[in-house]
Amino acid sequence: MTDIISAEQRSLVMSRIRNKNTKPELQIRRLVHALGYRFRLHGCNLPGRPDLVFPGLRKIIFVHGCFWHRHEKCSYAKLPKSNRKFWTPKLNANRKRDNRNMRLLEDMGWSCFVVWECELDDPSLSIRIVTFLGNYRTHQNRSLNTRKGQQPAVQVCANTRRETIS
Ligand SMILES: [Zn+2]
Repeated sequence: MTDIISAEQRSLVMSRIRNKNTKPELQIRRLVHALGYRFRLHGCNLPGRPDLVFPGLRKIIFVHGCFWHRHEKCSYAKLPKSNRKFWTPKLNANRKRDNRNMRLLEDMGWSCFVVWECELDDPSLSIRIVTFLGNYRTHQNRSLNTRKGQQPAVQVCANTRRETIS
């Protein structure tokens, strides 16, 4: 993706990201971890390679940049004045692909949640994440019934069918 944007365009995009040194995804990973949840990264062969995967919960969090994923009515997603003919179809295609991937995931039994880059500092974000993920420990004890010293056999990459999560 990065090779199709010019240095000028890249600096424009970067200037829209408030905290230049913190990748949004990294920020979310830290937050979700601090909230006590454990997850896998970039669900291998799942549609759209989701950023954070919670196999036991059958839940997924995407972290989307507002510009690249065309966040509706968001000031970060505004197109540059020049080259609109170039950007509009490219970015619309991104959004279409996102929607298609999320539909596929939902068909496979996954629930998806999107965190937008512009929401990173929103004080309600933690609450919304906890509401989405629910009580992890309770769920884990119930769904991943493991014997002492045994790791739960969760293999999200090898096979994504519902039955593989025991
Ligand atoms: Zn946004």
